Amino acid sequence: MHEFWLHENGIEGAYVPLPARPHELSFALRGLAAAGFVGVNITVPHKESAFALADDHDAASLAVGAANILVFDGGRMRARNSDAGGLKDNLESELGPDAIRGETVVILGAGGAARAAILACDGLGAREVYLLNRTPAHSAEAIRFLAGRASAKLGVLAPDAWASAAPSTRLLVNATSLGMNGTISPALSLQLLPHGGAVCDLVYNPLKTPLLLRATELGLRTVDGLGMLVHQGAAAFEQFFGVKPRVSPALRTRLEELLCGGT
Ligand code: NAP
Repeated sequence: MHEFWLHENGIEGAYVPLPARPHELSFALRGLAAAGFVGVNITVPHKESAFALADDHDAASLAVGAANILVFDGGRMRARNSDAGGLKDNLESELGPDAIRGETVVILGAGGAARAAILACDGLGAREVYLLNRTPAHSAEAIRFLAGRASAKLGVLAPDAWASAAPSTRLLVNATSLGMNGTISPALSLQLLPHGGAVCDLVYNPLKTPLLLRATELGLRTVDGLGMLVHQGAAAFEQFFGVKPRVSPALRTRLEELLCGGT
């Protein structure tokens, strides 16, 4: 994605995946800054640590307590978070700007992605947002953290509450890691969702997760995780290079080829 945009914008550079051990993250980041990198994207499990190591924070990273971007700027590390904005942009583009306005959303999970999803749905005008997670205490902790930062009513659903919640749920978001790399998707009965309901999966590998395949079979609207990945990446690229890259069909096609095993 970033290589595509570097090429499209005539910027000389490279985007490389670099693993880091948790206890060496600080050294790794300082080394990258010293080596002339403009910044890094941060992924699981380093987002909270990167946030803690940063010298300053934007409102989005403060809202979720995690950074998916660090910009290296004259010896300072600036924490940014584009996960919530990326999901909001993608839901808006895939479902329309008013699809969940005044509606109820249920989010599976309670980690950083679930927190970002709460903010994204709140930003799109959802009336109520509930977290349903295998560990309800983690849901309660996430809701406590976000209290006062969202206009929507936020709440926790018990793991067995899906049957009663589903009929009034306009959008179901999978923000757990279930369904990733061949693991099973959450085993919820999607038949209970109302006509016109939608299912969004933040997992993007595989692109068509078992959850989304089941939703498609039932005639529900679906949103895959690649769109969020691309939109959060576009915001990161703009932070690194000061250029807003295009989220184009050509880019999506290229990424689908790569994810589906093309060349
Ligand atoms: P995280 O902080 O590790 O949270 C993972 C969540 O999944 C937790 O709520 C955990 O439940 C739940 N979970 C894990 N294994 C489970 C299982 N076997 N059964 C039921 N629940 C399980 O991870 P995260 O950063 O929030 O990321 C979550 C997912 O979102 C990942 O798949 C990640 O790739 C995806 N993501 C996608 C994008 C994108 O751009 N598309 C961006 C960010 C994240 P407990 O609380 O009980 O442990």
